[in-house]
Amino acid sequence: MGRIYNYLTKTKIASGLQCEKKLWNEVHQPLKKKKKAAFNRGRLFGDQVIKNYSQKNLKILDLSETWPNIAVKDTLNAIKSDKIDIIFEATFEYNNTLVRTDVLIKNNNGWDLIEAKSSTKLKPEHIPDVSIQSYIARKSLEVIGKKLLNIKLIHINTEFVLKKKGDYKNLISDDNDLTKRVNEKEVQSYIKKLLPITSKEANCPKIDIGLHCVKPYPCDYIERCKSVLKAPNVTPYTILPYIGKSKKLIEYMEDNNTVDLQKVPSSFFIDRKDYAPGYHQIIQEAHKNNKPWFSSNLKEIIKKFKFPLYFIDFETAQQGVPIIIGTDPYYPLPFQWSVHKWESKNKTVDKGKSFLKFNDQDIERQFIETLLDAVGNEGTIFAHSAQSVEIKTLERLKEKDSCKDLSGKIDNLIARVEDTAIIAKHNFYSPLMNGDWGIKSIINALPNSKISYTEDENISGGDDAVLAWFICTDPKTTVEDKEKQKKLLLEYCSKDTLALYYLIKYFFDES
Ligand code: SF4
Repeated sequence: MGRIYNYLTKTKIASGLQCEKKLWNEVHQPLKKKKKAAFNRGRLFGDQVIKNYSQKNLKILDLSETWPNIAVKDTLNAIKSDKIDIIFEATFEYNNTLVRTDVLIKNNNGWDLIEAKSSTKLKPEHIPDVSIQSYIARKSLEVIGKKLLNIKLIHINTEFVLKKKGDYKNLISDDNDLTKRVNEKEVQSYIKKLLPITSKEANCPKIDIGLHCVKPYPCDYIERCKSVLKAPNVTPYTILPYIGKSKKLIEYMEDNNTVDLQKVPSSFFIDRKDYAPGYHQIIQEAHKNNKPWFSSNLKEIIKKFKFPLYFIDFETAQQGVPIIIGTDPYYPLPFQWSVHKWESKNKTVDKGKSFLKFNDQDIERQFIETLLDAVGNEGTIFAHSAQSVEIKTLERLKEKDSCKDLSGKIDNLIARVEDTAIIAKHNFYSPLMNGDWGIKSIINALPNSKISYTEDENISGGDDAVLAWFICTDPKTTVEDKEKQKKLLLEYCSKDTLALYYLIKYFFDES
């Protein structure tokens, strides 16, 4: 088992800088680590970084597969030996703080440090991040009489487009010299402040949820912190969209020593054009009366829907290191769709159709051809948050050389799409949704929907689906694993479209 107490890493310091309670949770009561798509994107970019810097005929030491305590010794021995020119994942420990640097390059009598990020640009949070690396590396090098000279951040070049399989020249953008921008003095104060939180005896800091829970990174402990807020029979005010995490409201509720949604004065409520007028009031009243709310317009709205009704959902993946020719690193590659069809009111929904491919070079052509076939030429098509995924994807496909001949048919499809998120936000709210109109929250409010996203080992959200895409495109994945991921993806996407059917059916039944 690795070290737990009295010990910081770069990640732990970053957590502590976001919220000391987050750091305390990570040390004392950590959640099981959830695999994330971003990790795979970063790993693949890391492989390209290694390839890029390995091309220079240097003597290389790669410590990426070495345990940290051994890597610390190996790093110092390699530097002292003067026989190594470049170290990948060089590892240093100073003042109970351990860091792993992506690339360390010998430069005369000193060393240059390069940090690789799979982002598209230098972000403000990268400066303290790199400062931690450079401070610990500098101090460790000083102990053995060496110097840290230059510090650079490299990231993905957004202008890169894959033109030839395996040709990643120009994927890396290396124009961020941070030598003069790092602030190592601050790192000493971070360590002084945060190290005590990692001691076995440290108490959990008393910090309420707020804007810091989502910036710069969404905090994995949000459910734990929310559950502490929940007093019996009290719905917390934090469920209110957009204002639930606002500084002003948090201060007001703290001053009044309450978390009760019913105690939020209407002067805090705001309107947004994508929601029903007075939607904060609607939420407050629905919870007070413990009853769902339907707008009086719902009946008129559903009259416009034309059978057969179709329910669609797409999954897209941002590859980071693109493998499909003609795509760029953050192009949302459509790789899966699901469609359910409801022929007429007196029939039940069909068994559904699906498309799922991973790395076929003509994946987009296959995607759109099969989709057009599945949704026919008439009938309303429903998609949840269609404006941000499905319609954008269709608009992009229309412009692709490989799909241009289908643009008329794609336009016809787009004209038939209704966004269930917009319909629901304007016309429906249930206290079982807890302030959220995502389909996975709405489904909790639909009687007899029979859909659950909470089973063990399933895919429970878009990020899991992208992670499955990464697993299935990894040549090292076994056939069994790939089959398992395919099955999970098919079940997941199909659940989303079935959920839309249950939502629209509920609207028909209630109006
Ligand atoms: S959810 Fe918010 S308050 Fe709770 S640990 Fe995370 S950042 Fe801190």
